[in-house]
Amino acid sequence: MVLKRSTTVTCAVSMVSVVKNTPSAVRALERFLLPNACLACERWVGDSEPDALVCARCRLRLQPLLGGCGRCRHPLPLIGGCRFCAEWPPELAWARSAVWLDHEAREMVHHLKYRGYQRLAPLMADLIARHAPRPQGGALAPIPLTRRRFRERGYNQAAVIARALGRAWNLPVHEELLTRRRDGGSQTALTPEERAANVAGAFAAPPAGVARGVIIVDDVLTTGATLVAAAGALAGAGWRHIGAITFARALPFERRVI
Ligand SMILES: [Zn+2]
Ligand SMILES: [Zn+2]
Repeated sequence: MVLKRSTTVTCAVSMVSVVKNTPSAVRALERFLLPNACLACERWVGDSEPDALVCARCRLRLQPLLGGCGRCRHPLPLIGGCRFCAEWPPELAWARSAVWLDHEAREMVHHLKYRGYQRLAPLMADLIARHAPRPQGGALAPIPLTRRRFRERGYNQAAVIARALGRAWNLPVHEELLTRRRDGGSQTALTPEERAANVAGAFAAPPAGVARGVIIVDDVLTTGATLVAAAGALAGAGWRHIGAITFARALPFERRVI
């Protein structure tokens, strides 16, 4: 088994937790302490790109969303319009995602959220910028974590992606625009209906400012319930031209690998 950078070797963990998010020469120490294995496939990353967290092979395996619905980019059924965004309210004008949540993307999200790999965000932002058109304007607004989850994690993965995307697209990031009214539970194990109920009314936003629009940013789009709830809060506060962008999109049911 290849020892991953995230391996919990007791003596190395505290040092790595400092090193892995520091964009400086101390990465040489990380390379020395921990073998250079891809976070997605655990194979060795080539010497030609010693700081790559995800190997070239896995990056090539990422599946971008292509074509589909003009509003949400989900694949269209053979007959009729898009069923994925049909129930979304009109205030959420559009949604884009860079790649499908296949194995490689899932590992990237997992390492960003649960293993502290904030350094994955620039790669995610690059993928978003490559596969989604840059909005004409507007501010990026990350989905906020619950207070409890933020305390546990120490950072908001959506804000980390939003900052990197703001740099890639040269758009402002308003990290405090969306706030949580209440702490809902995890969305992970819920049905679509339960997800919608869980986040309904969960967000708040200040009265609309001068931005030309708001682009809500999150790591994964599953049913869209979170984005719809956030868009509702923004629209209720007078914001207009609301879209959403996520790094990954949950696979349509028929594409899931059981
Ligand atoms: Zn790999
Ligand atoms: Zn759609």
